[in-house]
Amino acid sequence: MVAGGGIGTVLLVGLFLLMGGNPAQLDEFLGSQSGAGQQQVETSGGLDHCQVSDQANTEADCRVEFTALSVDQMWQEILPQQAGIEYTEPGLVVFTNATQSGCGYASSKTGPFYCPADQSTYFDVSFFDQLSQYGGENTPFAQQYIVAHEFGHHIQQLEGTLRLSNYNDPGAESNAVLIELQADCYAGMWAHYADQGEDAFLEPITDAQVNDAITAARAVGDDNIQQRSTGEVRPDLFTHGTSEQRQEAFLTGYRTGQMSSCDTLGRGVYRDS
Ligand SMILES: [Zn+2]
Repeated sequence: MVAGGGIGTVLLVGLFLLMGGNPAQLDEFLGSQSGAGQQQVETSGGLDHCQVSDQANTEADCRVEFTALSVDQMWQEILPQQAGIEYTEPGLVVFTNATQSGCGYASSKTGPFYCPADQSTYFDVSFFDQLSQYGGENTPFAQQYIVAHEFGHHIQQLEGTLRLSNYNDPGAESNAVLIELQADCYAGMWAHYADQGEDAFLEPITDAQVNDAITAARAVGDDNIQQRSTGEVRPDLFTHGTSEQRQEAFLTGYRTGQMSSCDTLGRGVYRDS
């Protein structure tokens, strides 16, 4: 369904989907691929329900912003309790087409990301539609999972562990994968708390919503993306974990609400609350 340089664009977006990495590096990667696919990805058919009108964009923008607020509230409370660290809010940039970040130029191809250099999260809402290209669905809860995942990288930055991730040193056992799975688990933690308390952000979360997040988590699994884009699975190139691992990581955080259960790096520094 993607016009123009679709395959290359899908592959590159997929590889870097949900990453906390460096868009400047991505641009370098894209150099030999040409950027032909970019505009088509945003405006071609199949993306009609939220890309053709400003109104739809506005609603998606608002969803990102309100979700970010909810994730902030949760970590404000939980991070000091469970990790003994004061929470500071990350920057939030919602953009369309392209933007400059502290990590370099970012386009819609970059996907949602966290930039450690300016401690900010970046979301191009048009990107959410691409979930469907991996067998996911662009549902509100899937979008919220993605927002919470990127905030998870900010938590890792505050913990001092994000720098351990290196996409240039991939593999099934790599720190990159461990860091990504922890961010998925942290996203699950947000879902655990988001429908609790008097001023809960969400109505009680339904099984269908949890399934939305699971489907999204599975869609962005390395094995799924590799299979769809190249026809083969290369564990030595994994950066984010398999579909199974990402689903399990999200569910673990969701069920427990405890950072200790997300301790993929085995640091043993958390206390349950
Ligand atoms: Zn990530």
